[in-house]
Amino acid sequence: MGYFRGFAVTFRKMFEKRVTTPYPQEKRPKPARLHGRHVLNRYEDGMEKCIGCELCAGVCPAKCIYVRGADNPPDEPVSPGERYGFVYEINYLRCIHCDLCVEACPTEAITESKLFEFSFTNRADAVYTKDELVVDATTGRPQHLPWEDWRPGDDDLTSGWMRATSPSGDASYSGRVSWSGELGHGVRASEVGQTSSGSGKKDSDGSDVEESGST
Ligand code: SF4
Ligand code: SF4
Repeated sequence: MGYFRGFAVTFRKMFEKRVTTPYPQEKRPKPARLHGRHVLNRYEDGMEKCIGCELCAGVCPAKCIYVRGADNPPDEPVSPGERYGFVYEINYLRCIHCDLCVEACPTEAITESKLFEFSFTNRADAVYTKDELVVDATTGRPQHLPWEDWRPGDDDLTSGWMRATSPSGDASYSGRVSWSGELGHGVRASEVGQTSSGSGKKDSDGSDVEESGST
């Protein structure tokens, strides 16, 4: 008799609304502030934002960033100013996606996308080079590397944008734009603050930010 009761439960569940998603074929929208794979950004004119200062490497608790700066070639500067990031590497076998590198960067050069679905078959592939991290020179969007699984929205907002647009708890800075434009994005609008009745978070286009999990 117990068997029949068990089958009855199974049969009944077949017609109930499914609460799981068939991952990875179907993915839930990611939270706006999720920390994923990094990108190295460019200014709107295409110049690289990284100045090779190594602050990100210094602050990284996992010691997974390797940077070497170099003087900009006078005839063909890579970034505005004196220096640029000549070598830039992140070891994703060590990175814990804490975002401290993003916080430390004085030029908003390094930010994080929402992509975390990537895997490697050897250690060398896990070390992303500057050529792989720097955004596309025409669109300003992250490069889609063959072993990565990008889905719509994974590169829409970056945690760096959230950091840059935050009023840091001072209401007088709310809505004040004080950050530089990015290739492909322009000067982004500020994040709308949160309300006590709900998250109230908005994208730069004013639409509601989907809250679908922890960050
Ligand atoms: S997210 Fe954290 S662990 Fe990863 S590279 Fe940046 S500082 Fe290092
Ligand atoms: S990413 Fe930012 S913090 Fe790191 S070396 Fe470049 S400019 Fe400095």
